[in-house]
Amino acid sequence: MSIIKLEQIGFKYNEHQVLKNVSFEVKRGEFLGILGPNGSGKTTLLNVIDGILIPQEGELWINGTSCNKLKRENLAKIIAVVPQESLMLFPFTVQEIVLMGRAPHLGKWRFEGETDFKIAHQAMEMTDTLSLMNRSMNALSAGERQRVLIARALAQQPQIMLLDEPTAFLDIKHQIDFFDLIKTLNKNQTLTVIGVTHDINLASLYCDRIILLRDGHIHCMGSPEEVIAESHIREVYETNVTVDRNPVTGQPRVTLLSSHPSEGGSRSHSGAAPQL
Ligand code: ADP
Repeated sequence: MSIIKLEQIGFKYNEHQVLKNVSFEVKRGEFLGILGPNGSGKTTLLNVIDGILIPQEGELWINGTSCNKLKRENLAKIIAVVPQESLMLFPFTVQEIVLMGRAPHLGKWRFEGETDFKIAHQAMEMTDTLSLMNRSMNALSAGERQRVLIARALAQQPQIMLLDEPTAFLDIKHQIDFFDLIKTLNKNQTLTVIGVTHDINLASLYCDRIILLRDGHIHCMGSPEEVIAESHIREVYETNVTVDRNPVTGQPRVTLLSSHPSEGGSRSHSGAAPQL
């Protein structure tokens, strides 16, 4: 049985139809990437899966139960979100932030107990943030803050983790560190991961399967080899690229091509990890 199933989901903001006939399933323990240009509906799709937005069309199933029957608080025990850290303000210590992950399990008037502290402690251990526990979030580097947000999500003890462009503000070392940690949790804890990213090459390295969104519908879906093809990327992003193989991993690798006349129309973007 799939842990997540979307059946012909349609979503509109007022009269603006954003998601159109979106259907797919995610297996337990799978690492699914969602790619697509700005405005193609990636964040809207994550918000539908997280139960923040209710689709007007279609049906969403989590663990075989229709979300119409799942209360928001029960969904929060199953699904955790790691956001773009720059969007948040942090007047709290690391431990306080991580303990917030326990909120869905506490009920209305209960304060954290010994078990909650123990789970938060374990989450900090897994993300190498224990030594930061009494520091203020505001005093940490972007990479450290992102690890703390993973710890908060883990303290929620979720079955599914949603990532919304979590590495947008990280340098390449911290992008790799972030995805290595998520991949380890994905493998060791059988955590199901759905990640929105702009970085096609990172998605190629880490995802089992990728969905490429275009204008609110699924343009194509499959393994990185199937999805990261020149024709798909050109059609969806309307830009000139070439795709070859990463010489070390063999995974598909996208290189940007300039269309500026002085660059001869074919000069590639240099650098180890060209990004779209
Ligand atoms: P992406 O994450 O791929 O950039 P989004 O899901 O954020 O795309 O947005 C898809 C479309 O929905 C865009 O046209 C955007 O302007 C619109 N949109 C997003 N959020 C809202 C909102 N709260 N109200 C109205 N329109 C929205």
